[in-house]
Amino acid sequence: MNPSEAARQTIRPEILADLSVSQLAARVRDVGAEPYRVTQILDAAWRSTATDWSGVTTLGRALQERLASELRFSAFEAVERQEAEDGATTKLLLTLSDGAKVEAVLMRSPADPRRGSGPRATVCVSSQAGCAVGCPFCATGELGFTRNLSSGEIQDQVRIARQILRSEQRELTNVVYMGMGEPLQNIDAVFASIDGLTDPLRGGIGQRRITVSTSGVVPGIERLARQRPQITLAVSLHAARNPLRDLLVPLNRKWPVEAVIRAAHAHARATGRRTTYEVTMIDGINDRAEDSAALAELLAGSGAHVNLIPMNAVAHTPWHESRPERIEQIANELRSAGLTVTVRRNRGREAGAACGQLAAERAGEPTPVAVARRRELLVAASAAALQGRRTAQPIAPAGPLRGDA
Ligand code: SAH
Ligand code: SF4
Repeated sequence: MNPSEAARQTIRPEILADLSVSQLAARVRDVGAEPYRVTQILDAAWRSTATDWSGVTTLGRALQERLASELRFSAFEAVERQEAEDGATTKLLLTLSDGAKVEAVLMRSPADPRRGSGPRATVCVSSQAGCAVGCPFCATGELGFTRNLSSGEIQDQVRIARQILRSEQRELTNVVYMGMGEPLQNIDAVFASIDGLTDPLRGGIGQRRITVSTSGVVPGIERLARQRPQITLAVSLHAARNPLRDLLVPLNRKWPVEAVIRAAHAHARATGRRTTYEVTMIDGINDRAEDSAALAELLAGSGAHVNLIPMNAVAHTPWHESRPERIEQIANELRSAGLTVTVRRNRGREAGAACGQLAAERAGEPTPVAVARRRELLVAASAAALQGRRTAQPIAPAGPLRGDA
């Protein structure tokens, strides 16, 4: 293979959703088609059930073929659906053009007349294949980092989710960036995807219906406040004190709790939007009396919303979810500190919190030796953290992609 062939192979084929409206207009002009074709293409992509160029029935066959020869209609080679037992959740395992796999999860909820809200349907999207942060309770963290997704690869997860909902006569109401990956470590593509999703000609989704979840990338939170102020911020906190947060969210060594909270408060002030804090509840690790007291103290008076999520079992950790009674106690403690709290039950297991698990399963199990070693390290590190000692090194994933077993 000569160098130019090699270079071409590493360039992934362009996908429709990666183009801005003006870039698409230029393409349409280049192939000699009329300008109104742009609206027809975008309508078919976002407001029909077309899955390829031949489904864009408003275009003639010749134009369909011409566009198909240079632009992929969808980002995905394959879409596998898995319905959860609750009947309300659909997991999508999506294979990208280079074989990388990511997940998106679709969650439907009925109308809630008490809160005056209509039926909701939320899609949880991935922003990266794998994740470099490496939180030890997370299946995606275990996979290690493969690559960033492009803006179009992110948007197409929403597009597919909308098509599924449309076939059920339902509307997509919310988008959450809580799937695989750390969105603020792929911030340019994430912002470009928000622009596509909220563009009336494309996704047409209200900015206020979009939430970006971060494990605490401080400069990213600052940029979100400045550049996309209508978007809701969710911060994955998990622990209020540094020694334990160092262990649970390795990025905490770079941006400690105080810096993350400062940035989140500044975001709330600048945007007028209430921050959500997510706390994955791990039995005996972050649910002790001192942990909940520290959490209540840290967030008291912030007017924030706290989401308590029972930890999903992940094979490589020695940890499991907190007892339901304990989670309720903590919820009440936080409510007494003036915070609004929701406890995510069932759904967490099926959906957002389980994101990455399907892809992790497909990537193959790490070796038993690697898992055993990792469990040992986690037990030692959590014992140290519980005594308030900060450890020097994050614990490397045991996953097959890191290949250090
Ligand atoms: N990287 C971003 C967004 C993706 S993770 C972030 O960390 O915020 C989305 C949420 O799922 C995070 O709050 C994460 O902590 C949580 N999560 C990950 N693994 C989990 C598990 N095994 N059980 C419960 N929640 C989990
Ligand atoms: Fe990455 Fe979020 Fe998982 Fe941490 S919890 S490893 S930041 S995806």
